[in-house]
Amino acid sequence: MSQSVSPSSVSASERSTLNEISRPGQIRRLGRNLNGYFGETIDLPSILADCVAAARAHGWTVTEIPVTETLTLSALTRPGALVTKDKEATENRSPRVYISTGIHGDEPAGPLAVRQLLQENQWPAGFGLWLCPCLNPMAFRLNRRENAQGVDLNRQYLHPAAAETSAHIGWLERQAAFDLCLCLHEDWEAHGFYVYELNPDNRASFAPDMVSQVAGVCPIDTSEVIEGRPAKHGIIRPAADPRERPQWPESFYLVTHKTRLSYTLEAPSDFPLASRVAALVVGVNTTLTSLERQWKSLPRSSFDGPSGG
Ligand SMILES: [Zn+2]
Repeated sequence: MSQSVSPSSVSASERSTLNEISRPGQIRRLGRNLNGYFGETIDLPSILADCVAAARAHGWTVTEIPVTETLTLSALTRPGALVTKDKEATENRSPRVYISTGIHGDEPAGPLAVRQLLQENQWPAGFGLWLCPCLNPMAFRLNRRENAQGVDLNRQYLHPAAAETSAHIGWLERQAAFDLCLCLHEDWEAHGFYVYELNPDNRASFAPDMVSQVAGVCPIDTSEVIEGRPAKHGIIRPAADPRERPQWPESFYLVTHKTRLSYTLEAPSDFPLASRVAALVVGVNTTLTSLERQWKSLPRSSFDGPSGG
């Protein structure tokens, strides 16, 4: 039932879907993803090779974070990202943004979205960018949510037992603090795109703009309860203190140790793949544009949080 997506092109059905994206109201649930994801799979090594090639072509630095003797995680950083921890408070610095995806192997739209973003190379000028295009490569090989040992890596960030998570956290600890973190996911139960916001200082929210722009390419899940949490217009603002949760997703680690503003974007995986990829690409681009605008208009002190590092 799985249909492989050619690494550097889209299928005919996707192309027809791309035409439909200009009319998101006509995009319907496929109805085939019940009790799990049964949609398209991707050739992850090809996608990652494309990401690395695009990053190198545009002057990024490529790091392979060692996990085991046979497994590494790619980390792509752009100049502007190359600040050391003691220099991170300088007055004239640029915004620093972290983007990750591919922590669940049954969510192909994330790696495809970051490949598109890297190839398009339309990032705001001067931004420092850190990008992890796939945090769980083994899960993609197995076409399932968990890694080879059956661990959901997105529950590992308080007490990491998985080698992938330990390696990822070790790398994150060596990076500067981020002004914004974006984690790209998919949800096969969703009726449309939605986003989790972690914003403990109640800063100006980027979520409404993100959702309204994504609505141009993908339906929005307007349910009042999503994943058991109250939602409004596709936005979930979890009230729980991370310290009260025993199993941390990556975003809890980020908002506790690396940032004061984190968004987890969820594309609806029972919808056409092209629409989901477009949703994540538009979600990222809209939010970076919002940050760029805000950065020019607000004093730096409004970004440097109390517990950045
Ligand atoms: Zn996920």
